[in-house]
Amino acid sequence: MSSASPAAVRRVDNPISLFDLQRQRLRLEKGIQARIHTVLEHGQFILGPEVDLLERRLAAFSGTSHAIGVSSGRDALTIAMMALGIGPGDAVFVPAFTFAATAGAVVSVGATPVFVDVLAETFNLDAKDLDRAIGEVKAAGRLVPRLVMPVDLYGLPADYPAIAAVAARHKLTVLADAAQSFGGALGNTRVGALAPISATSFYPTKPLGCYGDGGAILTSDAGLDEAVRRIRSHGRQGTGDAAVQLGITGRLDTIQAAILLEKLDVFEAELERRRAIAAAYSKALGDLVTVPKVATGSASAFALYTIRVPDRDALRSRLDAAGVGTGLFYRLALHQHPAFAKLDRRPLPVSERLADEVVSLPVHPDLTDDEVARVIAAVRAALATA
Ligand SMILES: *Cc1c(COP(=O)(O)O)cnc(C)c1O
Repeated sequence: MSSASPAAVRRVDNPISLFDLQRQRLRLEKGIQARIHTVLEHGQFILGPEVDLLERRLAAFSGTSHAIGVSSGRDALTIAMMALGIGPGDAVFVPAFTFAATAGAVVSVGATPVFVDVLAETFNLDAKDLDRAIGEVKAAGRLVPRLVMPVDLYGLPADYPAIAAVAARHKLTVLADAAQSFGGALGNTRVGALAPISATSFYPTKPLGCYGDGGAILTSDAGLDEAVRRIRSHGRQGTGDAAVQLGITGRLDTIQAAILLEKLDVFEAELERRRAIAAAYSKALGDLVTVPKVATGSASAFALYTIRVPDRDALRSRLDAAGVGTGLFYRLALHQHPAFAKLDRRPLPVSERLADEVVSLPVHPDLTDDEVARVIAAVRAALATA
């Protein structure tokens, strides 16, 4: 605009976006193109050799016996629940503060999501409220408590030891919605190995992303591995004709696997960079805003770096004016979505408060040190004028 000061023009000329996949593409393009070309030449577009190789690499990375490439993160959750035999009449306990797909997958297998509150400090499932919610469902007697689906929000693993203890007491299975946390860990145990079965996503902006839709299921249970492989391929056993159970079109494309193989080679370095940026933000902003807490021994994949501020909309518009991209994950808790409005409501005060206070800052691995400093300066300036 003509009225803008020279400084403002300069900032708007070099906006910092929340995600920047083009910089990563420029770094990796040669290798990715070569791998895609190989797929075009061999022509095995469905379950080709790249899928097989990627599955072995993902299992080795996460420390599980099996990894199965599937069509998306949402499909990974659906297929995992089908493999576990979850269906109508079953209660599946999910955190109320997460992406809508977590509950959507539950509804799509005919089961009923039960919303559980989260902890404000970690944004993740509150094991005490989980215990309460299971007790309520048991007392009501309409649904059978079957499954708990913790979400590793923003990349930070949920408190699996506490959740597993509650689940075991009530004889529930645990399925991890690890869509945002591939690369994260609790102690020496990586995401994928933190629950009996885990689902992750390779949506382009997730920590490990492909160039379209993709996902994976991770497990060390050979029976679940076999069931998942059948379900992702129309319920067929191996190359046989017979559908031995209900399945879906749920495979990971060979071309997406080829892209992921190239990105997996640099994934550890990218995780390091995300963590270094997050550490710089927390050090520089911790006195002004509530910064994400990562307990000693936990490692977040930092899919997102999310702070809490009382007037998040004002901060967001000031950052926008300063050329700093932000995102709101999530503006609504699950029970506030029209699609889930008919489900029973429990008190979910923390989830509702977080939905009003969160704002995510850029944390992608291609940010320069100069850009990290600009984000910090912009946040401090925006809050100083508040
Ligand atoms: C992204 C995401 C999903 C769904 O993954 P898609 O690959 O987009 O289907 C599910 N749960 C959570 C928590 C997510 O962030």
